[in-house]
Amino acid sequence: MPYFGEALSVQPSSPPTIILLDLQQSHATALLNPVESTPIHLPTSIESKRLAQTLSLLYATLTKIQAVGRIDLSLCSFNFYRSCDVDCRLLRSGVRTQDGRMLSDSMTTHVPVLIVGAGISGLVCAHSLRLSGVDAQVVEASRRPGGMIRSERRDGYLLELGPQSFSSTPQLDELCRNLGLENELLTAPHRAPRFLVIDGQLKQAPLSPPAFFTSSLLSARTKWSILRDTFGHTAPPDEDESVAAFVRRKFSAELLDKLVGPFVSGIYAGDAEKLSLRAAFPQLFEAERTSGSIIRGMLRATKSKKDPKHKPALQSFRDGNETFARALAARLGPALRTEVSVTEIRVASAGTSTNYEVTLTANESMEHLIADNVVFTTPAPAAANLLRGIHPGLASALASIEYAPVAVVSLAYPKDHIGQSLDGFGFLIPRSEGLRTLGTVWNSSLFPGRAPDGHSLFTSFVGGATDSQAVTLSPDELVSLVHKEIAPLLQIRQAPTFSNVTLYPRALPQYNLGYSQLVASLLKLGVEFPGLWLAGNYLRGPAIGACVEQALCVANEIRAREAR
Ligand SMILES: Cc1cc2nc3c(=O)[nH]c(=O)nc-3n(C[C@H](O)[C@H](O)[C@H](O)COP(=O)(O)OP(=O)(O)OC[C@H]3O[C@@H](n4cnc5c(N)ncnc54)[C@H](O)[C@@H]3O)c2cc1C
Repeated sequence: MPYFGEALSVQPSSPPTIILLDLQQSHATALLNPVESTPIHLPTSIESKRLAQTLSLLYATLTKIQAVGRIDLSLCSFNFYRSCDVDCRLLRSGVRTQDGRMLSDSMTTHVPVLIVGAGISGLVCAHSLRLSGVDAQVVEASRRPGGMIRSERRDGYLLELGPQSFSSTPQLDELCRNLGLENELLTAPHRAPRFLVIDGQLKQAPLSPPAFFTSSLLSARTKWSILRDTFGHTAPPDEDESVAAFVRRKFSAELLDKLVGPFVSGIYAGDAEKLSLRAAFPQLFEAERTSGSIIRGMLRATKSKKDPKHKPALQSFRDGNETFARALAARLGPALRTEVSVTEIRVASAGTSTNYEVTLTANESMEHLIADNVVFTTPAPAAANLLRGIHPGLASALASIEYAPVAVVSLAYPKDHIGQSLDGFGFLIPRSEGLRTLGTVWNSSLFPGRAPDGHSLFTSFVGGATDSQAVTLSPDELVSLVHKEIAPLLQIRQAPTFSNVTLYPRALPQYNLGYSQLVASLLKLGVEFPGLWLAGNYLRGPAIGACVEQALCVANEIRAREAR
C-alpha cells in the first residue's frame, strides 16, 4: 500500500502501538498493530480538510473501542495535534467493538451529508441537495421509502394508508415538474363540498362568506361575531392561547364546536383546548397581531402572497400519494439505503471543523461513517433517542412532543347499497355528536381509480388526542365501530365488502400550548452543533407541503454551509 510524504510521529505509552492510515480512495482505515513498529507516512498532496477528517475518524475509532493508555499524534507539516486516552486491543485487519463485533471497512466512509429517514422530508432534502451536486446519502430504517405516505393496491382498491391527498404549494408543483410527474397528478374537484355531521345528519359546511352568512347551521350571534371581527380591532393576549380559547374569545363556542373543532381534528387529530393558536395556526395569530382582525389580516396576507397566481388545490397521483416518494427514491438510486437504521451519533470534531461519527445498523451488522452534516427527519422521539448523548436538554425537548394516535379505517361498499349522494370530499364529525369517528374521506368521489366499478371506498379516522384509547381496539372492532357509525349517515344498507385498518400509535405531533418556544429551542441545535439539522412534521406543520418546505429550507442552509 503506497504511502508518501511526511511521517506522522506516534508516541505510544503502553502497550506500544502503530497506527496506519490508509488514505486510498478517500477511505481511511485505522489499523492498530501492537507488534510491528513502522513509521507512518501520509501523502504530501492531501488537503488539510481531508487530513482533518481522517484523523478525526481515527480519533473516533480509538474512542469507540475504548482503549486505555495514551496515544499522541502529531503532524508537524500540517500543524495538527490531537491526543486521546486509549486501551488498544489486538487488531490486525479491522477494528473490533467492545462487544467483540468487527467493524466493516465501510466504517471509514466519509459523507458530506447523511439524512436519517426517508419519509417525504428526508427524500426531498436529499433530492434537492443532490440536484445541486452535494453528495447527500439517505438511510431508512424500514423496507420502503415514503414514511407515512403509503399507497397500496388491493382487491382492485387503491388504498391510502396515511395521508389521503395533499394541498398543492408552489414548491410541490416545482418538484412534480422536476420529477416528470405532472401527467400523473390528479386534482380533486375544486368545488367538492365538505360536510359536517350536525344532529346526526350530513350538512354542507359553509365555507364561503355567502354560504356562511346564509347558513342555518350557525346562529345570528356567531354571524355577528364575524362582522364584529371584520370591522373591529383586537389584540392577541401576551400568553400563549389555545385554539379553543381564541375561538371563544373572538367568535363563539358554537363556531368552535361545529366548525373549528372538527377542522382541528381533520388536520391535527388534535384537541382544540390544548393546541396553541400561534403554533398550530400561525396565519390566524399573525392576522390578529398585525391587523387587529382575522378577516382583514387574512385578506391582507392573501394579497401579499409571494406567488399570488398559485391557487392551492387538493391533489394526489393516479397511482396514489406514494408515487411521489417512489419517484424521489428512484432519483436517489444507491444514495438511498433502506433497512438501515442510525443507532448512534457522536461528535467527532477535528481541527476547526465539527463532524459526526454515525453508527448504522443493518440486520446484525454495524457500520460507522463520518458525516459533516446529519439531518434528522425521523419523528421527534427517534431524533430524541439519537441526540441524547450529544445534547440531553434538546433530546428531552424533542421527547416531550406529544403525538396523537390515529386508526385509519378503509371500508368499501357496493354503490347500489348506499342511499346518500356521494358528491363531495367527505365529512367531519363534531365531538359533541358523541361518535368516535373523527371524519370520513370519500376517496372514490375525489379521485378516479380508487375502487372497482360499482363500488365506493371510504377512509375514516378514529382516535386522535381526545380519544387516545381508540387505537387499542382490534381491527375487527374498529371496522364494526366505523361501519356502525357511518352507515346511518350515508344510508348504507349492508356490511362492508372490503376493509383495511392501519394503526398509528403516534400519528401526528401536537402543536400544544408552549410549542413555539419549544420549536425555537430545537432550532438552536444547529447553532450549538454546526452540521446537525432537524426536519420533519413537528417543525412547520404536519401537512406534506409544510414538511417539503422545511426540508428545502434545511437543504438551502446546508448548501450555504458547504459553500463556506
Ligand atoms: C393518518 C395520517 C393522515 C394524514 N393525512 C394527511 C393529509 O391528508 N395531507 C397531508 O398533507 N398530510 C397528512 N398527514 C401528515 C403527513 O403524512 C406527515 O406529516 C408526513 O408524511 C411526515 O413525513 P416525514 O418525512 O416528516 O416523516 P415520516 O413519514 O414519519 O418519515 C420518517 C422516516 O424516518 C424513518 N426512521 C425513523 N427512525 C430512523 C432511524 N433511526 N434510522 C433511519 N430511519 C429512521 C422512519 O422509518 C420513517 O420512514 C397524515 C398523517 C397521518 C399519520
